[in-house]
Amino acid sequence: MIFKILTLFPEMFEGVLNSSILKRAIGKDLIEVKLINIRDYTKDKYNRTDTPPVGGGAGLIMKCQPIIDALKANSTSSTHKILLSPRGTTYNQEKAKDLAKNYDDILILCGHYEGMDERVYPYFDEIISIGDYVLTGGEIPALVIIDSVSRLLDGVITKESIEEESFDNNLLEYPQYTEPYDFEGKKVPDILYSGNHKAISMWRKKQALNITKNNRPDLFEKINLTKSDKKLLNELEINETPKREKEAIEKGHKFIKDN
Ligand code: SAM
Repeated sequence: MIFKILTLFPEMFEGVLNSSILKRAIGKDLIEVKLINIRDYTKDKYNRTDTPPVGGGAGLIMKCQPIIDALKANSTSSTHKILLSPRGTTYNQEKAKDLAKNYDDILILCGHYEGMDERVYPYFDEIISIGDYVLTGGEIPALVIIDSVSRLLDGVITKESIEEESFDNNLLEYPQYTEPYDFEGKKVPDILYSGNHKAISMWRKKQALNITKNNRPDLFEKINLTKSDKKLLNELEINETPKREKEAIEKGHKFIKDN
């Protein structure tokens, strides 16, 4: 996968691309990030890429010519061209999956200042916003896209890490714990020590349903609840610990004592 980033501030990408999983993915040639400085394409005699808006108003607007020349020099008919703007469609995990699956050449235009000349928009395949707030530039949104798409590509992280994640089937992830068993009086749920994988998996599903219901009722509404999901939700409502959990927890206590 190649990401071609049109930006006025290529240096903003360095820290993120030179760290952790993205650095490793670049090192293994699983992804390539080409940073294209829009200023290199300006034909303005003063090297300008942005000027005040026609008709007056605050701030500076990025001009058409350097953007479109940079775009044309760095794209082909198979390049998927994304323009970042607060007016775009809100980005989510589904979109990340779509980009990871269907494209291997993605170009992203990062706006800056007060945005870009309106005539730039029709050159792009889609407009993406990363949320209902305004940032100083598109560089952070571009990194959000690079990061979220890259981790879905084969070999970037383990398949298991992606398999059960937040937003799959509109469900948020269940709670996770590490040792020690008791941290300042807060204990790891005993069932996780039981070794009973089925009971653990059902407990996790129940917690995921509960977290989604409480934290994101908008997502919860979209879940196609199975019979088993409804049973788990019912257990939560009547605050009941079912037999299978009691047995698993009992075994877990023995496990903790043995250690
Ligand atoms: N004047 C613009 C408006 O009111 O919509 C905001 C321009 S913003 C300060 C500068 C650039 O940052 C935008 O052109 C866009 O590329 C990027 N940007 C800001 N917020 C964004 C968001 N929520 N999603 C995607 N890009 C964003």
